[in-house]
Amino acid sequence: MPRIQRYKKNTTGLQYKCNNCQKADEREQGEIKELRQKTRQSLYVHKARGFDSNTGDTTRYLMPPWGPMQDFALGRLGLTWFNWCAESICIGSRQTTSMVLYKVWKTLEADELFHTPQLTPVSDEQKRRAALQLIRYHQYKFYTEGTANNNYKRKTRTILTLNEAIAGVNMNLSVKFALGVSLFSNTILSLGTERHHHFSRAAWNGELLSAVALTEVGHGSNTKQLRTTATYDPSSQQFVINTPDFQAAKCWIGNLGKTCTYALVFAQLITVDGSHGLHAFVVPIRDPTTFLPYPGLILGDIGDKAGLNGIDNGFIMFQNYRIPRENLLNRTSDVTAEGDYETSFSNPEQQLGAALENLSAGRVGIMQESVATLASAITIAIRYSAVRRQFGPDPDGEELPIIEYEMQQWRLFPYVAAACALRIFIESFIDQYLECVEMSHSGAKLAHLDVQDMVKQDPAKATAHPWPNPNKACW
Ligand SMILES: Cc1cc2nc3c(=O)[nH]c(=O)nc-3n(C[C@H](O)[C@H](O)[C@H](O)COP(=O)(O)OP(=O)(O)OC[C@H]3O[C@@H](n4cnc5c(N)ncnc54)[C@H](O)[C@@H]3O)c2cc1C
Repeated sequence: MPRIQRYKKNTTGLQYKCNNCQKADEREQGEIKELRQKTRQSLYVHKARGFDSNTGDTTRYLMPPWGPMQDFALGRLGLTWFNWCAESICIGSRQTTSMVLYKVWKTLEADELFHTPQLTPVSDEQKRRAALQLIRYHQYKFYTEGTANNNYKRKTRTILTLNEAIAGVNMNLSVKFALGVSLFSNTILSLGTERHHHFSRAAWNGELLSAVALTEVGHGSNTKQLRTTATYDPSSQQFVINTPDFQAAKCWIGNLGKTCTYALVFAQLITVDGSHGLHAFVVPIRDPTTFLPYPGLILGDIGDKAGLNGIDNGFIMFQNYRIPRENLLNRTSDVTAEGDYETSFSNPEQQLGAALENLSAGRVGIMQESVATLASAITIAIRYSAVRRQFGPDPDGEELPIIEYEMQQWRLFPYVAAACALRIFIESFIDQYLECVEMSHSGAKLAHLDVQDMVKQDPAKATAHPWPNPNKACW
């Protein structure tokens, strides 16, 4: 028996024969014929309708494109086969998500500003391009006024879907938008009050770009030990922000190096009664007309990184820098004009949790961005392996695509599996995360929350499963 069998189409294009023994692959003939007919119909629909973001029908996007991958997508050919539809659903997630992904991808694909340059530009140019891309991205209005006004769960879900869509094609833009608009705006809405909402609106409208300044040189993970201070001065009704030494300089902060005009700064709040722990403040950083930093700030870009050089990660130190009392995000804790500290928490530890809760959404975004990168990379590698041909059973005959070789499969397939598995994990993780945050907003205790509890609370969850059943034909 030859190690590699290859079934080749006969002239009708519907029968497959083994290259070596000339025996027809009887088992699959009917199935292949049916699949081909269905796919042709779908492709016809695809071509006839073109891209129409107004229709809710996404099935046409889930059909394999016609081309060299077609035989692999349709079923077994030689040793290698893919369930194209199931794979694309795993990577593209649910159908509604897929629709958003394809809408964003199609739009950005048609815009030259988003094309990858042939040569990698120097990092300053990458930062300039990312800033221009952000402006253009705002103009496309993938999100609507309604998105910003939705409840926390729906809004965050939309933001994360958009984040995933951009991350698949342009990581710089995805991170820039996530930090400067969505994370900033979400934190304002959940930690701030009515008086801060104009900041959120301005960010969504592209009038303001922010940074989220938490990490310091001396502390990253252990946020409780952060040492930037915001001391309340009752005489001027202002907070005075200070960086005691270089270890307390905010560092690594995305968008801070060159482009943001505001930053969400996390600092230890101090009144005459002492320190009250980490709180978030909206801090003006640059003049929006000149982009020069305000007096009292020492800031700059941290320079070239191993990657993601379109993001201007920066550092900042505060020297008696004053901001109005109203810039404290005060939904859970506040300082009166006279300087009295008021909080809704009996346990000061809860204040830290409340201050940082929203930043977890940013961490979820990082998982999405990482998996989107893996999915893009493995898609490129698989496509290349399906069209690149080397050697074959007959030295003078047709060569085989290299994906038919076990060594190539051994190298690539684990990453296809990883991309699918991680994608599925993130999707269910996001559901549970959003549920937890919503429960915490409503004051519910999370101590005993586990998956079983969540299933019990919502029986629909026990049966609902958004993923394709691998035992069923996906057509
Ligand atoms: C590209 C990039 C962009 C960033 N952007 C921002 C930004 O916009 N805003 C911002 O505020 N910060 C930003 N950061 C900083 C980032 O949030 C921190 O790097 C992160 O929180 C980790 O902190 P650290 O680097 O100080 O690591 P450390 O806290 O020093 O940790 C170092 C290692 O020790 C491990 N470790 C630490 N404590 C424990 C423990 N208790 N148990 C087990 N392991 C432990 C960590 O997992 C890690 O592997 C950015 C960082 C990078 C690399």
